[in-house]
This record gives sequence, structure tokens and C-alpha cells, in this order.
Amino acid sequence: MHNGPMRLFVTALVLASVLAAQPQPLVRVTAILDGGANAYYTGNRAPLLPSPLMKLPVGSVRAQGWLGHQLELMREGFTGRLTEISSFCNFDNNAWSHPKGEGPNGWEELPYWLKGFYNLGVQLKDERIRKEAQRWLDAVVASQRPDGWFGGRGNLEGGRAPGASSNAWPGTLAGMVPDLWPNMVMLYPIRSLYEVTGDQRILTFMSKYYRWQTKLPLDRLHPFSWQNFRAGDDLDSIYWLYNRTGESWLLDLARAKHERTADWVASVPTWHVVNIAQCFREPAQYYQQTRDIRYLHVTERAYEAIRGIYGQVPGGMYGADENARPGFTGPRQGTETCGFVEMLYSDEMLTAITGDPKWADRAEEIAFNSLPCTMTPDLKGLHYLTAPNQIQLDRTDKSPLVQNGGDMFSYNPHQYRCCQHNVAFAWPYYAERSWMATPGNGLAAVFYVASEVSAKVGDGTAVRITQTTDYPFDETVDFAISAPKPVRFPLTLRIPAWCQQPRLSVNGQPISLGKAPHGWVIVEREWAGGDKVRLELPMRIAATVWARNRGTVSVNRGPLTYSLRIGERWEKKGGTDQWPGFEVYPATPWNYGLIVDTKDPAASFEVVRKKGPLASQPFALDAAPIALRARGKRIPPWTQEPNGMVGEVQPGPVRSSEPADEITLIPMGSARLRISAFPQIGEGADARDWGPAPPLVLASTASHYEPLEELNGSAPRFTWSDKRGTSEWIEYYYARPRRVGAVEVRWADDAKGPCRLPASWEVLYWDGGRWHPVPGNAGRVRFGPVETTRIRVKVEMQERFGAGIVEMRVTE
Ligand SMILES: [Zn+2]
Repeated sequence: MHNGPMRLFVTALVLASVLAAQPQPLVRVTAILDGGANAYYTGNRAPLLPSPLMKLPVGSVRAQGWLGHQLELMREGFTGRLTEISSFCNFDNNAWSHPKGEGPNGWEELPYWLKGFYNLGVQLKDERIRKEAQRWLDAVVASQRPDGWFGGRGNLEGGRAPGASSNAWPGTLAGMVPDLWPNMVMLYPIRSLYEVTGDQRILTFMSKYYRWQTKLPLDRLHPFSWQNFRAGDDLDSIYWLYNRTGESWLLDLARAKHERTADWVASVPTWHVVNIAQCFREPAQYYQQTRDIRYLHVTERAYEAIRGIYGQVPGGMYGADENARPGFTGPRQGTETCGFVEMLYSDEMLTAITGDPKWADRAEEIAFNSLPCTMTPDLKGLHYLTAPNQIQLDRTDKSPLVQNGGDMFSYNPHQYRCCQHNVAFAWPYYAERSWMATPGNGLAAVFYVASEVSAKVGDGTAVRITQTTDYPFDETVDFAISAPKPVRFPLTLRIPAWCQQPRLSVNGQPISLGKAPHGWVIVEREWAGGDKVRLELPMRIAATVWARNRGTVSVNRGPLTYSLRIGERWEKKGGTDQWPGFEVYPATPWNYGLIVDTKDPAASFEVVRKKGPLASQPFALDAAPIALRARGKRIPPWTQEPNGMVGEVQPGPVRSSEPADEITLIPMGSARLRISAFPQIGEGADARDWGPAPPLVLASTASHYEPLEELNGSAPRFTWSDKRGTSEWIEYYYARPRRVGAVEVRWADDAKGPCRLPASWEVLYWDGGRWHPVPGNAGRVRFGPVETTRIRVKVEMQERFGAGIVEMRVTE
């Protein structure tokens, strides 16, 4: 780690060549946006790090085009109608609406939903939604006790703290600690309510609540569970409040909370999908208070570590089908919907904290490519897991290929409890952060989207900027300015990292941006009503080879990733007549490898645009606005698993003697069935045949874990090196039954390290109903051959030692 500022400021002053008749604009290109003050919108107050981007109040941005249509679909989709579907949203029987917080359903579900539902109502100016949301929020505020606590009484009584003193703390039961997590979520819609109403009582309400937290003995301040991992959400609200009230004790509380939060500085303390997405940013949040750049670097390091192992796939995320699991790193590993929406918000927050546009690029990657397929095109159903390669969405159990048993893939408005409520905030938050205020009383277009923003700029003049674009399905973004009088202010535009040669013009006059501008362009001039700005972002076709994920290849054009177009057959399954569930089956072949020249990818594809105006819902199979015509070969041994999942990709390039077919790729966000990480078809000496699928490796616990192919040979070994004298197991799981008659294990035996030969071990095989043990004492166990899908080795370690396996062979 390094001390001192590491940020490299690349600031270029570019003189614009404009007509003398026009006011001379000052144009700057900067890699990272500087922090500073804005006279009209709240950013960080000293001593916090100055903000480069300030949030505009909810309602300032009106999304139009495809994003505006997502919000309209939400209104009539399950989010807008969740009171008809979810028992957690029943006002008449709920701890959140009770004046004393009594009753059921006082945990995370209702606040998850209100976080998006209220903002949706404000943005759409929808009275039904606004009134319904406000009724809840008013009840929550009214539930505050004189000591400051609010919300569910059950949360106050929380859970038993391991090791916490048993003395009763006033207001809690003996030995109990309050569960602060649900309130962390509820403060988001409460903050939105303040942005809209300006009601000062909300600041008092929040102050009182955080005062109550300062009186909590430290050992009761989120010592465990979700609240311990996720206290960064409270940090967000504490800074928000401090910036409005300036009460310095809030920063003391923030420091104490950081100390009491799971340690995201030293490591990744949990591999739970949502915890990672929501919490890896906590050190970067705290960086605003410490101003120590190392905290920012820690967050980047965590991001790279997580994506480096589990995110070697297109779509901007990482595979974690509850937890990220060692060995489960291929493109068929899905991500929980809550994971996408929390990561999207983390990226938005980090854009605003750092002014670094890479976080905005990362947000767009998730928003365009991964988020849309978490829901049906009409936004009336959702599922739990969305994966880059996913060819069938049926209700059957997919474990242990995914971690959880039961239905995880089918679309249904009634299931997937956390995601069902939490998905509500994704599009509204994205829309309201697409425009932000900047230092120097300016405005920034952070995410390009057809929209209208109304805000105060410069000397306080209220302007309106209309953004017209079909981005990300088009390369041109037009801005039209309306102002009652000329006003000078900086207009900031983001240049995505994938764009090499952006073009900018003001009132038809081209502006020189210098060579390969990257980051942000700031155009400062006296703007007048009728002024027009055009930004063109030429999109190139690019291929990514995922060298660390079996050499698979994915294709991008601008911010969009493209997936194989697979015909969809929808079958109604489950749900109700009014709110049905659906399974989706493939209606066309999917087992294609891609023929692509990765050195000149553009030569391998032809871009085909759909004629006519952009579909209002472009994230649907038949509405896909752009297609890439490509060539591929089928790989016959690449088959579906017996449980319906796609077979895992194998290391490529892959040989295929099938004829080359013309295939179509469509935006990943439009493809609910998709292959996005393709095997690459090869003919050369490095090409391989597609072999039988290797088994999955499952284990009781593992301190070190490498994929099976690396177990055989000199590659890293599998160990229980952090265990001493316990009983553990490791298992080979085969999707299809195979004959097994011998298991050979080469055990690790360290002279000085933690692993010794086991005290004893045995082999067990699964007959479909129960395990059959076969004892082993030497390195090899033989038995009469059996047909089985699971072979397990159970080990009893020596008392003071761990154990490990160098090689494990299963034969007939
Ligand atoms: Zn969820």
C-alpha cells in the first residue's frame, strides 16, 4: 500500500474553435472530476472530502424513452401492485405501520419496497403510488419513541449476542441486541421524503434516532449478522444527515460504526452475494471522512479480487448463487437479483464519491446487460438467479449445481421474497442519478438516457435540459437547453472508457477534444435558451477473451454485450390467473461456439439495425433494436444437464466438424435465454475436443480450493489447513450416473505445514437414497463397481493437524 494521493489528474485545456459571434466556451477534459461546492445542492460538508457530484432531489429528473417506459411498466407491474401480492405490504397488519411498532413483518421487505416505490411515484407524478407510500412513511415517522428508536419493536429486541453481557440495557430484553439492519433500509425512503417535502421534522427524526445509537453500548452496536456486514448503509445516511445539520457528533458515531462494521479493509469477510455487492464499498465511503486514499484503494482491490475470481464473465457481475463458491466460476453460475441491484447502487454511489467515471461505466454494464433479464419484459414477474449462460428457466431444483435447492430460475411475481421487494429501487435510483449537480453550480450528464432535468445553475437561474437519445442503442446524444435568461455554468459530460473518438459540437460548431479524451468533458460558457449540444459516442465491436474462464469469448459493441439469440417458448406455470408464473424453454439450438477473429473482431460481424423507432421496451427478444450477424459451429457434445441447466463450457478453442452456420447475436439484456460467454471455435494446433464433463467438486469446508482439473498434477492442492482434528468430507458430483469401482487418494503430508496424513478415512457412494460407506486405510479403496452420481471421501484428521489432498482419482 502507498501513502499519499495516487490519483493521476489528467487535465487538458483545449481551446475551442468556435465562431467569434458565439460566447467563447471554456472546454476542459479531465480523467477524474474534482470535488467542490454547489450553492443549491448538498454535497459533503467539511471536514468530509468535497463532493465531485451532488444528488439532485427526487423528481428533478424525468426519464423518457426506454427508461421512462421501464418506470411506467413498473407502475402496472408487480412493484407498483405489490400490495395485491405480498403479505409484507399489508398496511393493516404490519409492525411498520403500527404506532408502537407492534405486529408482524417488521423486517427488511417493506423498506426494500418503499425505497423504490416512493421514488417511482414521485418520478411518475403518480398520486396513487405517492399517497400509498407516504401513508407508510408517515406511520414510520410517527412510530418514533421518545428515546429515538423507530419501527418494529421486534427489531429492537433483536437477537441474542454471543458474548454480549447479559445485563438488560434499557429498552431491550436481557442479553439481546437490537437489529439495526431493517432501519438502515427504511432511512433511504425517509431521505427521499425529505428531498421532496423539505420537511425539517425528518432531520430531527433522523438525528434523534442516531442519538439513540450513540447511547448503545459498543458491544450492542451491530455485533453480528446482516447489520454487521451492511452498516455501510448507515454510514451513507449519517453523512447525508451531517451534510444537512453539521452536528459533529454524527462523525464520531460514523467512526465508531466503521470500527464496529465487519472488516472490509483487511479482506472480503463474507462471500454472500448481496453482502459483497452492498458492502465492498464501505472503506471507500469511510475514505470521505479519513481522506486517506488507502481506504479508496482497498475498495478497488476488493472489486478486482471478487471479479478476478468469480467475475470472469460478461455482464458486469460475478457468479454467486447465494454465496460465491470455490470452483463454481463458470458463466452458467447465476447471481441473485438483489446482488445486481445492490451492486448497481454501489457503483452509482462510488461514482459520486470519487468522480471516477469507471464506476459509471461499471454501473451501465450491469444496468444494460444484466438487470433487464432479472424480470419478464412486462415487469410482472422476476426470478432469483440470472446468469450469462442460461438456456432454460424452469421450476425444478438445480442444486448442487446452484447452491440453493428449489425454484430459482422461473419467473414469478409471488416468490423470491427479498428480490421481489428490493428490485423496486433499481430503475428509479438509476434514473434520478443520471443527472447530478457539480461544483461551480453546474450539471453533469452521468448516465446517458432520454430525459429532462430541471435544476438551478450558475447564478441561481432554473434551467431545463432535454436529453434526446436512444443510447445505448444509438451513438448520438442531443441536449437542448431551456433557460429564462442567459446563464453561465459548466455542463459536464461523461466519456465512457470504451469510446475512443467522441465528437462534440455546440450549436453545430465542432469542439476539439484533443487526442483520446477520457473521463469527463466540461463545457463552461454562457448558455441561453435554444442552445444545443450534440455528443457522438462511436461504438466499436470488441471481443473479450476470458483467459481465466476456459478461454471463452464475449462480444461487445459500446456498452452492450451481445448474446446468442435463442427462440423462447413461454409456459404458464404457477402463480394466479392475474399474476401468473412462467417457465421459458429454448425453441432453437443453443450449443454454438463462435467463429471470431479476436484480433480484428469487427470483421467477424455485421451490424443490423431494426427499422423504425426504438421499441418502448427494447429488452425483449423480438424487440431487440440491434443484432450482430455472426458465424458459429454447433458443438454436439455440449448438452443440457439432466436438471435443465446448460452444460458448463470447456477450455477452448474448441474443435467442431459441424458446418459453419449464420447465427444472430442480440443485446444480452434482450435475451432471457442466452449464451453470452461462447466457446471459441478453433482449427489450429491449440484447438481441443469437447470431452466428457468433469465432476463438480463439493466439500464440507475448504481453506484452499482449486478446480478439479488443477487437482490432478502439480497444480495447487486442496486442503483443510485451517482445521484441526475435525471430521470433513469432499465429494465428486456427476450430473449423469457413472460406474465407479475404485477411489485413489494421494494425501498431503507436510514436514512443517499444517497437513498430515488423516487418522482414518472412508469412501461413500450415493445410491439415490442413502450413502454406503466403504472403509479405506491405504491410499486406494476398491469395491464392486456401482452406478452412482456422487462419490464422497470422509476424513477424520489427526488431533492437532489439518489434512489435504494432492490428487484424487475415481475409476471403474
Ligand atoms: Zn434477493
